[in-house]
Amino acid sequence: MAEHTTASVRGHDVPLGLYLDGRWSETGRRFAVLNPGDGTTVAEVADGGPHEAVRALDAAVAAQEGWRFVAPRERAELFHRAYTLLRDRADAIADVMVLESGKPRAEAVGEFTLSAGFFRWYAEQIAHLHGTFADSSPGGYRVVTTHQPVGPSFLITPWNFPLLMAARKAGAALAAGCTTVLKSAKETPLTAALFVDVLHEAGFPAGTVNLVHTSDSAAISDALLPDPRLRKISFTGSTGVGATLLGKAAGNIVNSSMELGGDGPFVVLDDADVDLAVREAVTCKFRNAGQACVAANRIILHRDIADEFTRKFVAQAEKLRVGDGFDEGVDVGPIITEAQRERVAELVGAFVGSGAELLAGGRAIPGKGYFFEPTVLRVRDRDHDFCREELFAPVAALYTVDTVAEAIAFANDTRYGLAAYLFTRDLSRAFAVSERLDVGMVGINRGIMADPAAAFGGVKASGLGREGGHDGIYEFLEPKYLAVTVDERDALGREA
Ligand code: NAD
Repeated sequence: MAEHTTASVRGHDVPLGLYLDGRWSETGRRFAVLNPGDGTTVAEVADGGPHEAVRALDAAVAAQEGWRFVAPRERAELFHRAYTLLRDRADAIADVMVLESGKPRAEAVGEFTLSAGFFRWYAEQIAHLHGTFADSSPGGYRVVTTHQPVGPSFLITPWNFPLLMAARKAGAALAAGCTTVLKSAKETPLTAALFVDVLHEAGFPAGTVNLVHTSDSAAISDALLPDPRLRKISFTGSTGVGATLLGKAAGNIVNSSMELGGDGPFVVLDDADVDLAVREAVTCKFRNAGQACVAANRIILHRDIADEFTRKFVAQAEKLRVGDGFDEGVDVGPIITEAQRERVAELVGAFVGSGAELLAGGRAIPGKGYFFEPTVLRVRDRDHDFCREELFAPVAALYTVDTVAEAIAFANDTRYGLAAYLFTRDLSRAFAVSERLDVGMVGINRGIMADPAAAFGGVKASGLGREGGHDGIYEFLEPKYLAVTVDERDALGREA
């Protein structure tokens, strides 16, 4: 690890500074990172402002031309090295993730494994980025399409999957040959710091990766988005902040990718395997205490299986163990902040006030930390705004429909369009219904679908562009068309 200020967090050395131009640096200001499991301070990290953001962009701009022309094999080797180093640090990264995000350790390990998998997958793709070739329509030249990196990229990540979001974005950008300024979420800067430290140790050249923590995110985006040297913003977070950033990006026509909120309709049809649907729904709803963009948000049940599903789902929800992420057997950790927990309590109050039936949970858990009981509501009156908003909480809302058409119409009756889930034993029905769901992704008979090879993303207010898969790398590449004159006489002999 380079020379800089570090803290020992659960026995692991974690850098506390910003990472600018290949070195860890201090700013003279700090902010506290809190453990949502008990409200204590985990560490205090350097607080970056506009000055440091511009320094990070200066470094990214200076490194861009060199990084772009590093041979694919050499770039891939750095990724392989980073993958190996990440695996060596698995325990440190998982522990730190639990401390600052509150997620159960088994989930942190799962996130770690998937994130490392992204690095391996990108390493395998770097040498396989292809353009196209065609004859021109009238003849006399050739149509060659190559791809070039968009340029210095600003990456903004949320706290709910602090490693996965950083690895997925930075991996795609770097694989494409872009240099980066990564802004961590203020709740989870330490995971981002460990990730960037791995890239440092793997040997990514100075300036290719820069990391800024801040207690004032708007000040950072206000400094970077008007700067004409910035060519790309890739944001994951709420739809409201995404819209604000798109507005700011418009000034310089900055290339924008947006992974925003979701309202996951989880549709269980009358012919579904109910036990499977219940199992997957419990994971899809309560993973990360419901704080996932692809969480099941509205569980839409065909009337024929609604009672059986509800009985079994409530029984499973009641068995979930809530507690500190390090405790053995814990299924559901805390909500990220006290303010968010208050919002969840108000939300449950609004459902119950509108006539929803409380089948399980419903209350904040007193004591240390921001815990909330896994909650199940049966909603009859769905004519309220909160029935179409992202719950982002360990709160399951169950709705009953009478027909497949009604299920599709209700699933689509939202401004979001990220992930949907469909449970049926009939393959033809699975295709016909998923083709009519207005979303970017459909999990068919499964509640978890993140994969390095998959293009992840949404439609409507859920975002623009895709992350992961080939599409994720091409988000950081721009096609460049070369029109190449070919004079046939050069082959035939000029005298011909
Ligand atoms: P958020 O929008 O409040 O914050 C996301 C990030 O944006 C954080 O780093 C935050 O500091 C930063 N930010 C906030 N205001 C900013 C500004 N003016 N300029 C620059 N950066 C700013 O969201 P959150 O509460 O951290 O995350 C939860 C949201 O993220 C949910 O809506 C969830 O659905 C969404 N999400 C989406 C995906 C996806 O892939 N579609 C994945 C995870 C989370």
